[in-house]
Amino acid sequence: MTTLLAVDDAHITYRHGRETIQAVRGVTFNVPEGRACGIVGESGSGKSSLARAITGLVPLSKGRIAVRGMAPVTRSGPGGVRMIFQDPIGSLNPRRRLIDIVAEPLRIAGTSTSVARKIAARMLQEVGLDPATFGTRRPGDISGGQAQRIAIARALVAEPTVLVADEPVSGLDVSIQAGIINLLHALTTRQGTALVLISHDLSVVQTLCDHVVVLNNGLVQEQGNIREVFTNRNNAYTRQLISAAPDF
Ligand code: ADP
Ligand code: MG
Repeated sequence: MTTLLAVDDAHITYRHGRETIQAVRGVTFNVPEGRACGIVGESGSGKSSLARAITGLVPLSKGRIAVRGMAPVTRSGPGGVRMIFQDPIGSLNPRRRLIDIVAEPLRIAGTSTSVARKIAARMLQEVGLDPATFGTRRPGDISGGQAQRIAIARALVAEPTVLVADEPVSGLDVSIQAGIINLLHALTTRQGTALVLISHDLSVVQTLCDHVVVLNNGLVQEQGNIREVFTNRNNAYTRQLISAAPDF
């Protein structure tokens, strides 16, 4: 299977005056086409730093990240990486109509307004929002769960190669989390997107991911097939993470 995302010995260092923080220290993993990789670990372990590096927003101090063999770029389409965040409403332009928010990546890629709106309407349907009802609304007029559906529609409308989701359901009611997770799974599998899912919720990761990377303090504690890692519990840090997780 084709490897879409290759993270090779990634190191991320922040500088604050004379202080340096080594947020990520030698992380290596691959994500093939249509597969999902989970990144788990306590707060401060370097998950979001890694996410920003995969989107090309943060430089590596050492190592390499490649999307289809090329340096990552934040855009839609082949070779592009898109990201969705914990706070969907905050990541949507409050003044724009939802149809145009979803159409925007296509517009940026050069698609005409009318064609982009048609494709966006289909995408709204795909994420379970009737375009006739929701197309003309603005982000202030919808719920958090609906906003996350819009964020997913916008991220996937132009079929990026990689999607990075950083705690995509943490801000949502438990009752609507499963719907969002199923949606992410269905769309990324169908499009063949390589998904990187960051979540402190191990059940969410287990539902969606094939492979899991356990991060602690910027270091990979262990990684592998999700069932093996979560069932065998060979690693002491992973055991601790699992025992600290409620209902897992
Ligand atoms: P996580 O997402 O797992 O909570 P982060 O990647 O946000 O972890 O943070 C990893 C480490 O890097 C933490 O020690 C954090 O304080 C530090 N860090 C994150 N972002 C910055 C930044 N922009 N400048 C300096 N330090 C940062
Ligand atoms: Mg984080």
